[in-house]
Parts: sequence; structure tokens; C-alpha cells
Amino acid sequence: MSRSAHPAGPRHADVMTEGHYTAPPADLNALDEKVWARTVTRDEDGVITVGGIGVTRLAEEFGTPAYFLDESDFRARCRAWADAFGRDADVFYAGKAFLSRAVVRWLQEEGLNLDVCSGGELTCALDAGMPAERIAFHGNNKTVAEIERAVAVGVGRIVLDSFQEIARVAHIAQRLGKRQRVQIRVTVGVEAHTHEFIATAHEDQKFGIALAGGQAAEAVRRALTLDGLELIGIHSHIGSQIFDMAGFEVSARRVVQLLAEVRDEHGVELPEIDLGGGLGIAYTSEDDPREPHEIAKALGDIVTRECEAAGLATPRISVEPGRAIVGPTAFTLYEVGTIKPLEGLRTYVSVDGGMSDNIRTALYDAEYTVALASRTSDAEPMLARVVGKHCESGDIVVKDAFLPSDLAPGDLIAVPATGAYCRSMASNYNHALRPPVVAVRDGQARVIVRRETEEDLLCLDVG
Ligand SMILES: *Cc1c(COP(=O)(O)O)cnc(C)c1O
Repeated sequence: MSRSAHPAGPRHADVMTEGHYTAPPADLNALDEKVWARTVTRDEDGVITVGGIGVTRLAEEFGTPAYFLDESDFRARCRAWADAFGRDADVFYAGKAFLSRAVVRWLQEEGLNLDVCSGGELTCALDAGMPAERIAFHGNNKTVAEIERAVAVGVGRIVLDSFQEIARVAHIAQRLGKRQRVQIRVTVGVEAHTHEFIATAHEDQKFGIALAGGQAAEAVRRALTLDGLELIGIHSHIGSQIFDMAGFEVSARRVVQLLAEVRDEHGVELPEIDLGGGLGIAYTSEDDPREPHEIAKALGDIVTRECEAAGLATPRISVEPGRAIVGPTAFTLYEVGTIKPLEGLRTYVSVDGGMSDNIRTALYDAEYTVALASRTSDAEPMLARVVGKHCESGDIVVKDAFLPSDLAPGDLIAVPATGAYCRSMASNYNHALRPPVVAVRDGQARVIVRRETEEDLLCLDVG
């Protein structure tokens, strides 16, 4: 499957699943609560509001494009995950979905831990006061400098991803006179039911050490012999945007099998297993995500059952939701610039952002919905494609969606479920200024990541 639109246009490209929506929704003004943040609604004038503030006011104050994040929804989701997993498990928010210092403080206040996968993410976490022992460090190619820093500050765990890294972390820890707590990331041979480019646990990929062929068992053997390491468990992350628990079931079974092998061979019962993240959210009304308590129950049951069968004490479980916490909490607000009806095809609606603030549609063929946000309309629905202002025909934000046919330049439109992997993957393509993230809560709006300025762009360009 090719990953970008064909230069000759979408009708020539094999990735454009034409006519995904066969019929417009019954009510174009309705906001499906599955895809919108919890406090989002329309006021009596038909304006979309979040945290009690209308988008027209937000656009005036903060400009467009901008991400508006429902802080009380974010906090509620954190609490739901923490409560669902309870005291015998740990929830690590995957910082790569979206990280800022405010987010780190919310996580602390709501009792969550944090996954980072780069020195930059680690800096953000520490700067905002996250205790190092509540941080897990991931990545398939951590640099020596990153490892040194993580060990020196005392992160709670480093997730080892290769044989070289086992030796490297052990060596660094020993040199620093420390014993670093580590997990080993294994690939369990599960291909999660999701887009190929975001599936990560089948074996032909860069992450982890394969269970197959005794590789993971060998990794455990080495880790157990090295003085600088305290091996606390096994880690598995099988993909992203997963709805089906079957993949986790196979994954948990295989990880528990490895724990049993480790006990048989070394007489050691590793105390923890981490089942990763990847839980899906609703991007459109067709998606049906599970609630945290259902996920916690399903995972807990699987692990307990497998451990009983293997005669093992149930290890402590951890999970790493990123998207499932932050994804639904934000929407991107754009202003409509130009509107181009293509007879017999669709109407192209150009907005003031695009692939620089949401690369997921171009990168993963992701699906989104969109709503007219600054007013309601009773006009007939028109099939629209929301596109950005960048110099790429693949610069598409929403591939297929219905908008009212009286849509006009200057209208505000909102794309929901953009909290995860949008700002964190944003780029400066075409020297775009990356949009701000504004947290809204109880009638108060506060910039947590400010909009880039042209000075920001030029200050990196040393001339
Ligand atoms: C990306 C990632 C996650 C989070 O994935 P989501 O789909 O955002 O839940 C969790 N763990 C690891 C190791 C990851 O790489």
C-alpha cells in the first residue's frame, strides 16, 4: 500500500478509500459524544463550546489553527485508568502522544506515571517535577548520553530493546555505581488489527527482542548475570489504535510463558509484566472503544488465568495508554479559507493549517470527522474533503466528511479527537508556525504550549 496521495490526484491513488461515508449523518449539527471531549456541546446560538467557552471567543483570543484541550476530561480519563487498574497495577501515560509541562503536572496530581522515549521528553518530565522513579524510559536506540542521564537521575525503569542495549545500560550503570531497574521488551509475534505502519509486535520490525528462537530467553539470561541491572520484568507493546482484546490475550499468554521458562531455568520469578499501550479511541462514530475498567478486567483476568495455569504468582501489571487518555480530549479549530466544489466529485475545503498540525491522515490514512463549529446550519449536506494550505496534494486533514453546503470562508470548523499524535508530530513544513495548545476548564482558557512565531523560526536559522 502506498502511503501518500498520487500526484495526479486522489482518484489515481490506491490509498483513497472512496465513498467511505455512503450517506450523510441524520443531523449535521449533532456532536457524537464518542468522538468529542466530554464538556463539548453547542450553546443556544449553535456555537460549539468547550469547558463553557464558545469557539468564536476562543478563536478571537487565541487565533486559528489551535488545539483546544478539555482539561477536566483529561484528568477524568487519568483517574478512570488509575481507578480501573487499582493498587496492584501501574498506569504509565505514553508521553509521545502529547507532552507538555502542564500535562506532566496533571499526571502527577491524578496519580499516573510517565513513559518517555527521548532525552527531550525526559527533560520536560523532570523539569515539571515528575519524580524520576515514576518515569519509564523507552526507545529502540537510546543514545549513550540519554542512558547516562536516565540512570544518573534514577528513572524507575529502562525498557531494554536490544542485546547491545542490555550491555550498554549495564556498563553505564556500573560505571555510575548504580543498579538500574530494567524490563526487556519482547516481540510476541502478534500483529495487532490496525494499520500496518503502526503495528509493532510482529517480528519483522525494529522494536524489541523476539520471543521466537529463544532470543528473549537469551536476553533474560544475559540481563540476570549483569551486576548493573536489576531485571524486574518483561514488556510487550503490540500496536496502536487496537479495539480487539484478542491480541493482548495472545501477548499476555506468551509473556507469561516466558516468565515460566525464566523460573524453570533460573529459579527467579520476575515480578512485573508490562502490556504496553495501543488502546483505540473513537475517531469517527463507527469506532467503539472499550472503557478502562473493561480493559483492566480483561487484562487482569488473562494474566491471572495464565499465571495460575503456569503455577506462577500473578505479577504486577503495568499498561501504557497514550492515545486513549489524551486523544479524545482535544479538537483542532480551523478557519475556512477557500472552498472549491468539484462537479460530481466533492468539495475541497481549505483551512489555515493542515499536514503540519495533523500528519496522521497523510501518514496512516487516518480517519477523522469534522463539524461546522461557529454556527449551526440547516443547509443540505455536501461531501467535503478538508485540506490544508501546504504544497502537497496529500495534505489532507479529513478525507471524507459531510459539511453543510452553505459553508463559507470565515466559518470555523473543528476536527475532534486530535489530542494524540497531532501536536506531538507537528512540523514546520512550509515554515508553518506550529499551533498553540490551549487548556480549557470550568470557563477558563489557558495556553499551555504557545503558538510559534516567525521569530521562533528565524532564531534557529543562524544565517
Ligand atoms: C506508543 C507507545 C505507547 C502508547 O501507544 P498509544 O497507542 O498511544 O496508547 C505505549 N507504549 C509504548 C512502548 C509505545 O511505544
